[in-house]
Amino acid sequence: MTTHTAPSPTSGGTGLFTSVALEAGTEILTIPQPLITLPDDAHLSETCSGCLAWKPAAGRRGVNSYYSAGKELLSCTGCRTVKYCDQVCQRADWKYVHKKECGIFSRLAPRVLPASVRALVRLLLLQPTMSKEDWRKVEERQSHFLEFSNTQKWGEICLMAKGAKMYSGTEMAEAGVLKLYCMMLVNTLTLTTPTLDPIGICFDPLAATANHSCSPNASIIFSGRTLQFRSLDKISNGAEITIPYVDTTFPTKTRREELRLRWFFDCKCSACEEAPRGKTDLYSCPHCSGAVADKEPMICTNCKKSLPGPPSESTDLKTLHKSGYYPITRQPLPFLHSELVQSLLADGNFREALKHQLLLHVSIYPLLYTQSHHPIRVCSGFVLAALLMEVVRDPGEELKKVDVDWGKTLWALLLEIEQGVRRSHGGDSGFAMMVKAKMKEVKEELVRSGVGWLRGDGKVNGLEREWPKVEGVVRGVLKELKV
Ligand SMILES: [Zn+2]
Ligand SMILES: [Zn+2]
Ligand SMILES: [Zn+2]
Ligand SMILES: [Zn+2]
Repeated sequence: MTTHTAPSPTSGGTGLFTSVALEAGTEILTIPQPLITLPDDAHLSETCSGCLAWKPAAGRRGVNSYYSAGKELLSCTGCRTVKYCDQVCQRADWKYVHKKECGIFSRLAPRVLPASVRALVRLLLLQPTMSKEDWRKVEERQSHFLEFSNTQKWGEICLMAKGAKMYSGTEMAEAGVLKLYCMMLVNTLTLTTPTLDPIGICFDPLAATANHSCSPNASIIFSGRTLQFRSLDKISNGAEITIPYVDTTFPTKTRREELRLRWFFDCKCSACEEAPRGKTDLYSCPHCSGAVADKEPMICTNCKKSLPGPPSESTDLKTLHKSGYYPITRQPLPFLHSELVQSLLADGNFREALKHQLLLHVSIYPLLYTQSHHPIRVCSGFVLAALLMEVVRDPGEELKKVDVDWGKTLWALLLEIEQGVRRSHGGDSGFAMMVKAKMKEVKEELVRSGVGWLRGDGKVNGLEREWPKVEGVVRGVLKELKV
């Protein structure tokens, strides 16, 4: 494990702190084998339980998905519940813990325990193999046992813990198991692919010490089961490392509610303190586009008009755009645009998807995520590149008419992603390799199609002239949404 960090106590809990100064876009801490990493229920049958490579069926691969093509996964012949790439992955997982859980899973089959219970069973099975010191680190984690006992979920939580105790055969008392289950509920991280598709859950006592902030200075990147904390900003020696537990682009009210419900704390980070005038909270004035704070009564700070307020609960993109209350960065707009891209992709409507992805990548994300190497921006660029590839092949009438050289735009974007991925994921990461491979493929295709501007060394003149034209296209898309 490389580490530039140490967990140390802060007021009212623990946190993760650096012991060196860090540049933005660098590795902070790598945990090659977190204590528990497993696929969630939806991904169990298409993810290797050894190396956590995701191998979705052809129809289920998103355009941004980082998946491992190649041979199909093989089921464990013992339980028929978990799957592996090959014998190497199977043997490693067998030795780690599956030899103890295979019998449990096979007795239950075809029923499968929910991921959170599988994780707890794993933890209980691993306990006897762990040193006292390592187990102490697990037990030290907060469980919020009392808070959970006052929620509506309590009945179900008790049931799950009871099941885990029974299946694992642990000698631990039921109350202890129950406490561990609560601890897992507040301390697990979402396991994702390198392109941020959620596929499972991860628990590691060291990773779990990192606290939340709505303006975090670090992000978590998974590569297979390897977990890495990477810096988003420059971090000074001794500073606390913070990560987002929730989507930081939603309004303060929404974030705080989710944090209170799931993690039982009131966020007091710098972003939350700005509410109701924080950048996630502001509406815009339908009359003058001035900023409007999210509080009653609604009054425009600019033209001083009193406003009736935005259309409530609408999830229709056009309604929200036309209302004039929503700056493009105000949720749920970005969320709805990205959902729309996904559904257009599923329908194979690449040209329409391209317009919305352009809007997200060019106009929305740079405002929501200020770092150009932010993993969300690098991944959204990658989606855009995949869409541009489709469009370069077959632009259709509408996009042919626009004065943009889509091939040049694609190449400029790939150069940008190549820079970004070194900082978001690391230059030797699997994702960086994938970007390189994509560039090679695109270059060959562009050269084959006879573009004169691409030189052998990949350098191109006049790339900077394409972006303002692309921004013009984005403005057109926005205009269309408002009529
Ligand atoms: Zn594998
Ligand atoms: Zn098995
Ligand atoms: Zn906050
Ligand atoms: Zn106004």
